Amino acid sequence: MALTNLAYRDYEVWVPSLPKTIQHQLYGSFKDYMGSLVFGTEPKRWFAGTWIPLKILRVYQDGSMKGDKGAPVVLDLKNNVIEMRWVCKNKVSIPMPDQVVNWINERVREGGDVRFARIGLKDNEPYLALIAEREVEPYQPSEYKLVVDVNSWRYGIAWGLIHNGQLVSFKQEKPNLNELLTLYYQAVKRGKKHGALMRIGLHRMTQGKRLRRQAEARMGKIYRVTRDKAYFLASKLVRKALRYRALLVIDDVTEESRRELLEEKLPPDVVKLLMSNLKRFVHQLETLARWYGVPYRFKRLPSTICPICKHELTQEEGRIMICENCGFKAPRDKVPMYWAIKEVHSGE
Ligand SMILES: [Zn+2]
Repeated sequence: MALTNLAYRDYEVWVPSLPKTIQHQLYGSFKDYMGSLVFGTEPKRWFAGTWIPLKILRVYQDGSMKGDKGAPVVLDLKNNVIEMRWVCKNKVSIPMPDQVVNWINERVREGGDVRFARIGLKDNEPYLALIAEREVEPYQPSEYKLVVDVNSWRYGIAWGLIHNGQLVSFKQEKPNLNELLTLYYQAVKRGKKHGALMRIGLHRMTQGKRLRRQAEARMGKIYRVTRDKAYFLASKLVRKALRYRALLVIDDVTEESRRELLEEKLPPDVVKLLMSNLKRFVHQLETLARWYGVPYRFKRLPSTICPICKHELTQEEGRIMICENCGFKAPRDKVPMYWAIKEVHSGE
């Protein structure tokens, strides 16, 4: 209850990408204190689904302090330790790994600061994550527009750079779907074998354990590969927008994406995974855009309606879209770019 009282959620939070390694290291030292958490050794159900924000006191190298003196988390950059008070029965002092120190310094250099931490459960173990925030005014966009179309992870994300009504560059970034599907089917196969052993009660033997471990490892890899790709792309696109001081236009994930994926007859689990990664990508893109002050907006950019005359487009072989009314013709994934170009001219 002490924790819930400390929780506050009255402003919006953005989470710049925190490398996995850092999270692991924080968690690694923190778990030694699990037995003494004040809310009991058996984490409560309400806690499991909640990530509770905790106030932070920062102590800088020169000894100056910022934040709430009574905060439960002290980020001591002078001695490179994270102290936690009240969260456990005894005061917890975790040495800060170099990577964490560097990450914090980088955020501060960019004009941000670590404003609070969040504590929650990950894989049933307590876990501490640091959250940096930055207040920044978006720049005035130049004549450039960076359009990001997220219509299907299957065909990748398409982005186009528009300048003076012209598409000056266009690229599709595709995930390696074959690699993902191979891993997926390997995991399913091992899962089935494990299930068969379970039915005859042998799943706790060496072989059963190994099968389960292998299946989990493959699912974990699928998750990591797609997540890393999403983070990598979001960061690449935000850097591109910054370089051209472009307005970022994002066509968000829609039902259309899911339908397209289902039409591909992909396994439902894989569709779910790809969809959640699309959402993660969009979220990360928005987070980074805000962090770096890139102006952005969401705009529905259809790929099945003619950008010239708004007639329904017909799909031909090779994902080529044709307008039977006015003769417009373009690859399906470029149609949204034409919509974005049209907007520049109509001044919308
Ligand atoms: Zn048309």
